[in-house]
Order: sequence, then C-alpha cells, then structure tokens
Amino acid sequence: MNVGAFTFESPSVRVIFGPGKVTSVAEQTDLLGAKKIFLIAARNATGATHVEQALGQLLVGRWYDVAQHVPVELVDRAWAAVEQCGADCIVTVGGGSATGLAKAVVRNYPVPLIAVPTTYAGSEMTSIYGLTDGDRKLTNRDPRAKPAVVVYDPELTTGLAPAVTGPSAFNALAHCVAALGSPAANPVTTALALEAVKWIRECLPNAIGEPSDLPARTGLQLGAFLAGTALATAGTGLNHRICHVLGGMLNLSHADTHSVVLPHIVALNAPALPEQMGRLAQALGHAAGDPAEQLWDLAVRCGVATDLRRLGARPEDLRAAAERIAVDPNPRAVTRADIEELLTRALSGERPHIVTRPTSQLPSSDSNLQKG
Ligand code: NAD
Repeated sequence: MNVGAFTFESPSVRVIFGPGKVTSVAEQTDLLGAKKIFLIAARNATGATHVEQALGQLLVGRWYDVAQHVPVELVDRAWAAVEQCGADCIVTVGGGSATGLAKAVVRNYPVPLIAVPTTYAGSEMTSIYGLTDGDRKLTNRDPRAKPAVVVYDPELTTGLAPAVTGPSAFNALAHCVAALGSPAANPVTTALALEAVKWIRECLPNAIGEPSDLPARTGLQLGAFLAGTALATAGTGLNHRICHVLGGMLNLSHADTHSVVLPHIVALNAPALPEQMGRLAQALGHAAGDPAEQLWDLAVRCGVATDLRRLGARPEDLRAAAERIAVDPNPRAVTRADIEELLTRALSGERPHIVTRPTSQLPSSDSNLQKG
C-alpha cells in the first residue's frame, strides 16, 4: 500500500449526535445569537413540532414545501419568505430535500444554518448544493451553503418507512464508493468511507426488519455522518452524475436511483481499483469476493430497487440520458456506449459482477490517478 501526498480540509461544522439530541437545537440557536429563526421542514418529518415548540417566539417563519432535486422556482419562493421575515438563522428538519432547499437559500441569504437530518442523504455535511432548472439538475460547491451545526437524533428516524430507509442508506453507500475511487481521495476519506460502509451494512437489515430498532438507527445515522464527511472532501463521481441526470430528466427519486446504479458502477470501475475494492468487500463483511455482487445482494435482502424500470424509467429514455452524462473524471476511462450499456443493465435489473481484465487492457484516464 502506498500513501501519496494529499490535502485534507478539516470540517468546520459542529456535530451533535445521539438519541434525544433534537432538544439541543434551541441551545444551538442561542449560541449562534439567533433571534429570528426560520424553520424549513419536510411535512412529515418527526422532530419539526418539537423544534417549533422549543423555539417558541423566536420562530418568525415556517416552510413545509420541499421537493426532491430542489427546483429553482422553489428556492426563489423560499428565499423571498426568509427575507421577508428578516430571519437571522435557518433550522431544517428533514431529508436531503429540506436540507438542500435551505442550503440553496443561504447561498443567496447568508445566515447560519442548523440542519437536523432525518434520512441518510449526508448532504448536511457538505458545501455541495444541487438545483434543478427545467429538466436539468446542476450541482456545485459554495462554502456559504454548508451548515454551521448538524444535530443527528436517531430517534427522529424510527418513523422512516423501509421504502425510504433502504434507498437512503444506499445513497450514503454511494458516497463511500465515490470517496474510495475519487481523485481527491486521501487516507482520511478512505477510513471514513470504509467505516461508514461497515456501520451501514451491519445496521441496515435490522432497521428494515424493525424500523423502531434504535441501535440500528443510531448505527445507520453514524454511517451517514461518516459518509457525508467523506463526500465533503472526496466529492461525487460517475454514480452521482448518472443519478443527477436521471433525477433531473425523469424525476426519478434520488436515493432509489443510487441503490439501482451503485452495484453496476462498482462492477464497471473495480478493475481499476483492485485494492480499494478488496477493502470494500471486507467492509461489506466478506473476506474477499465481488463487492458489486455483494452490494446487489444487500439491496435485494433489504427490498431495495435493483432495476430502473421499477422506478419508472423506459428503454427509450436511456440514449438521451447517456448523452447528458459526463464520462470524465472516472477511475476508468469510459465511453458513452459504456454508460448506455450500464444503464441498459440497470434498467433490466441484471445482477452485476466484476469482469477482470489484464491491466494492460484497461484504459485509464490521467485525471483519475489515485492519490490516496
Ligand atoms: P427526501 O428529503 O425527499 O426524503 C425522502 C422522504 O422521506 C420524503 O418523503 C420525506 O418527506 C420523508 N421523510 C424525511 N424525514 C422523515 C421522517 N423523519 N419521518 C418520516 N418521513 C420522513 O429525500 P433524500 O433522499 O433524503 O434527499 C434527496 C435530495 O437530497 C436530492 O435532491 C439529492 O440531490 C439531495 N442530496 C444532496 C447531497 C449534497 O451533498 N448536496 C447529498 C445527498 C443528497
């Protein structure tokens, strides 16, 4: 194993973690000196009522209209409401859609953001924001979008249905796989990603089998936190680019597309990442073997979608989608035809597996040299 030179940016967010910790939100707004707080919450997010009551008179506005992929017109409306109230702090309670809306608002209206995430999206740990204009989803980074405080309270996630829990956990796993193969990977992001995979693999089946299993929910949220922290430095990869195009073009659920596409991405890129894939298989609980198959099997065991057709994609959508997906950077050089082939397999729900080829036959791309 070689350790190369690397840059690691220490995260500047305060993280409060533990069952019942939603009660610390009022104290955190106080520490920030906030006097006019605006709440953005998913309509069904457990914990929003508690935050409303705890903030009392300090709450100057509430917003429950959130949507996947964060449409720009929604951001404009929410921003206007926040501005009209003269808010000096935003608190979010909900999944990546609620967090993402608030992140997009504070880019334009820079006040501190406190995120109380109730899914496993990991967005709360990053300065990455996504916006959808028409059928195009764009992502970028902006330090103003990063929350100042994140409060993880696993008790708020016990009401998450298995149909949300499983795909959301796969969204976190996708952050881990992207971090392992990222050009910006370093020993810290690799350690975070592998530890996150262990927690998610261990806890996901229990949380699906018994949604109120608090230790399983706590482990899953720890995994999401670690995965989001890896994502913040290592960034996203081909898996995310595919899911963002499918989300923007076809309005497919973000987390569900991850669960379908992830095993296929692992199969595609594994030949260029032999060491990382060996460690991924171990983190997935296997001494060795094919992590693409292992992820696919975990998805099946947890009742998570393994085909794009089930999510609403049609064969005629694939060519146009493949046209829009940027092939670079990626650990292996790939062509549009490779992407279309991958999407075709993902559409039909084929169980993927790694096809090993001699290294001399593997195309590589200079922009994808592994640094960690
Ligand atoms: P989501 O926020 O839409 O939540 C999924 C579902 O769970 C919704 O129906 C929501 O109402 C429900 N829900 C949330 N909290 C709940 C609770 N406590 N109890 C019961 N139900 C609850 O989906 P998501 O997958 O969390 O987030 C997807 C969005 O996040 C996408 O737009 C994606 O692009 C973005 N995202 C961004 C980043 C980033 O770093 N910027 C990372 C990951 C995801």
